[in-house]
Amino acid sequence: MKSYIGLDIGGTNIKAGLVINGKIIKKFETKTQCNKGKKQILNNIIKTLEAVFDKKAKAIGIGCPGPLDSKKGTIGNTPNIPLKNVNIKKFIKDRFKLPVYLDNDANCFALGQALYGPGKNKNTVIGITLGTGVGGGIVINKKMFQGKGNAGELGHITINFDGPKSRCNNHGCIETYVSSRGILKTAKNNNIKVKETKELFNLASKGNKKAIKSFNQTGFYLGIGLANIINAFDPNIIIIGGKIADSWPFFNKSMKDTIRKRALSKGTKIVKRTLKDSGIIGAAALCAQSK
Ligand SMILES: [Zn+2]
Repeated sequence: MKSYIGLDIGGTNIKAGLVINGKIIKKFETKTQCNKGKKQILNNIIKTLEAVFDKKAKAIGIGCPGPLDSKKGTIGNTPNIPLKNVNIKKFIKDRFKLPVYLDNDANCFALGQALYGPGKNKNTVIGITLGTGVGGGIVINKKMFQGKGNAGELGHITINFDGPKSRCNNHGCIETYVSSRGILKTAKNNNIKVKETKELFNLASKGNKKAIKSFNQTGFYLGIGLANIINAFDPNIIIIGGKIADSWPFFNKSMKDTIRKRALSKGTKIVKRTLKDSGIIGAAALCAQSK
């Protein structure tokens, strides 16, 4: 069995693991320290990789929030992580002398969940991450589907043609409704002022009707988006991850009701993520997929 290193760069934490066939053999995690700037973040990345490095590792896979140029290896203007224009692929390759592969965090999530999580043994798997942004990944017959390079931007499917402007310049994207910012906006429209979705979750857990309504609406919006995805791909399973997935009990019913009413094809399973550290495992799996 070949071993690979998976690196998961996030706005809060940097994680890496030495991975053999979907199992993490060695793991290290540290704070990203975005407030300390580019140099410190890059130092933290090196420190994290060194902690799990093994001479037998064949390649390093990186998952990072987009926008990215995964072929060239450069990071774009990623919200929350000040690594704009850094060629992360070259930086790591020069340091560790191994082949390096890069893809966005949502694709790595989808690949990890598809190969080793609830998508295992399923032909068509869609992964959706709900967080600061909304990401997506499409895995068909155990292979990441990339189109001509950038497929899977499922968060930017339009669900309301004259809806709010999205950071992609389109209007009414799924992301404008069910990202953390979108959810907070829904809450505000229901006269709840909270700064984080976690607070909204806490209110809903205590039975606050307006908070519960806000999550119901979120499930409705997400359901419309997922119905579009089901109509396009007729997937066996859709796996929902990202920090908003923790609010699953409050949005999954309205989401599933909406899908039942609106999707043409029936029978797609919709589940919350189960595989832990799928960012690391998916990034490592990227190495095995790429050539
Ligand atoms: Zn958009």
